[in-house]
Amino acid sequence: RKKVFKISTGSKQFDSILGGGFQSSSISEVYGEFRCGKTQLSHTMSVIAQLPKEMGGGEGKVAYIDTEGTFRPERIAQIAERYGLDAQSTQENISYARALNSEHQLELLNTLSKEFAGGQYRLLVIDSIMNCFRVDFSGRGELAERQQKLNQFLIRLSHLAEEFNVCVLMTNQVQSDPGASSLFAGADGRKPVGGHVLAHASTTRVLLRKGRGDERVAKIQDSPDCPEREATYVITNGGIND
Ligand code: ATP
Ligand code: MG
Repeated sequence: RKKVFKISTGSKQFDSILGGGFQSSSISEVYGEFRCGKTQLSHTMSVIAQLPKEMGGGEGKVAYIDTEGTFRPERIAQIAERYGLDAQSTQENISYARALNSEHQLELLNTLSKEFAGGQYRLLVIDSIMNCFRVDFSGRGELAERQQKLNQFLIRLSHLAEEFNVCVLMTNQVQSDPGASSLFAGADGRKPVGGHVLAHASTTRVLLRKGRGDERVAKIQDSPDCPEREATYVITNGGIND
């Protein structure tokens, strides 16, 4: 059995509530309102995953599925500089794909399973998991079909994570109308989209929100081995930091 490892977030405080970072061989979800740092965390971890283990990395390559068109290679270069990495090779170690729709998003997993077979990949980012599904199945009558297709995707995703011992980080949006149901709501009422299907697939769920000033707050919502603690972090030129 392959040895499970953790990838750092870039913030020591954030890492500490996760017991070191986000774990390989499983699916982790960060969700929260706009500008709370989901995409910045995705970029930061795409760099850190390439670092040596003793620096919180995974010593490997990264696959990045972008469903919102917000991936910025320039940000990767800036974060690479913070860690003393060469910008160009750090960018080249990230295999980028823009998911055009939910069917394409599913197809990308086939491509990735072939790439992962080489054994070099340590992190798969999906920013964000629900965007294509929400666009493709926007009608009320399409919810059941959406959840069925989503489930199909997540089953494949979880197999990929386990088979290749890859850390999967997916970001998620929150419902614009909290309060509708409190089943998955955080203490402050923010609720991730994707319903039971997504809740079941995520091993670790973390709520991100804006704090005081530039501060952001991460709160563990669901974890097999960590208590529901909070940590603060900031977004800098060098990515997520304390
Ligand atoms: P959305 O739901 O819209 O996708 P998000 O959670 O992905 O939002 P991010 O794009 O990760 O949000 O974070 C945006 C925040 O990051 C903004 O407040 C922005 O000011 C900050 N930010 C972006 N680049 C930098 C940088 N180089 N230095 C400092 N802060 C930055
Ligand atoms: Mg984003």
